[in-house]
Amino acid sequence: MKETVSFFIFLFFLSCSSEDTGVKLNNEPNDTIILPIVVHIIHSGEEVGDGSNISEYRVFEQIESLNNDFRKRKGTLGYNTHVLGVDTKIEFKLAEIDPQRQKTKGINRINSYDVTIKTDPDNPPLPFDLLPQYAYWNPEKYINIWVLKGPKDLFLGSSQFPYAKIPGLQNPLNTIGTGIFINTLHFGKSDIDSKINLGRTLTHEMGHFLGLEHLWGKKESSDCLEYDDYVKDTPPVGHSNTDCDNTELSCNGESSILIHNYMDYSPDACMNMFTKGQAERMRYVLENSTDRKSLATSNVINRY
Ligand SMILES: [Zn+2]
Repeated sequence: MKETVSFFIFLFFLSCSSEDTGVKLNNEPNDTIILPIVVHIIHSGEEVGDGSNISEYRVFEQIESLNNDFRKRKGTLGYNTHVLGVDTKIEFKLAEIDPQRQKTKGINRINSYDVTIKTDPDNPPLPFDLLPQYAYWNPEKYINIWVLKGPKDLFLGSSQFPYAKIPGLQNPLNTIGTGIFINTLHFGKSDIDSKINLGRTLTHEMGHFLGLEHLWGKKESSDCLEYDDYVKDTPPVGHSNTDCDNTELSCNGESSILIHNYMDYSPDACMNMFTKGQAERMRYVLENSTDRKSLATSNVINRY
């Protein structure tokens, strides 16, 4: 597990391309887009359901929570009555067909001791160079989610941005793989002593995977208007929020900051919102990005 531990040393810095390309976004979501997911559980040889080899139920619960959030489902934590909050009409389903065209539940378990991770001593590896060495299903057909244990609250997850001509989108790093990494401790509902314990890390990282920046843009700044998330209906902020009771105003003083938005750092318990502008941006990426658009028609799930 040494390689796994060293993995957490490497943070995920992305270069910026914030030039406004003048791309016109689609205004109205229409049909629901359903995207296939494979969850690679990278464990340390425990029995299924123990430790890092998390149960199937925990995965099902996490995907349900992800869908509750993206679909703003009534009666769930993902519901909100905020004037800006919308149903993105994007949802997710665990893969039903694996790369060998056999039936699957979309959960792939890998004992980390069975895998020798190759690293180049001259070039520190990036997360998305290492993770595909455990397992990697065709990224044109599956959203690869790797679940791997790391230190609590220090490293929650990471995501690779898409390639898309869209204002303010950071360029993805040139790595072997694309996908999402989530720390096992913060994957799904868990009983850890943390404010990040209800599975919202995946909602946040999926936002990045589909082209959303943080509310404050590419970097926190004392100059509130220095950076932007390039979403028109999110009030400008210069920094993250970690408090469910924050009543701060946005930096133009016109409205409250969106502490309930999934693209902030708020505790899981108070996150419940994507805005219309964010939904449009994600749907634009899904319709136009060279490394995302095939997911919407991938033939590894039944669509209904
Ligand atoms: Zn983030």
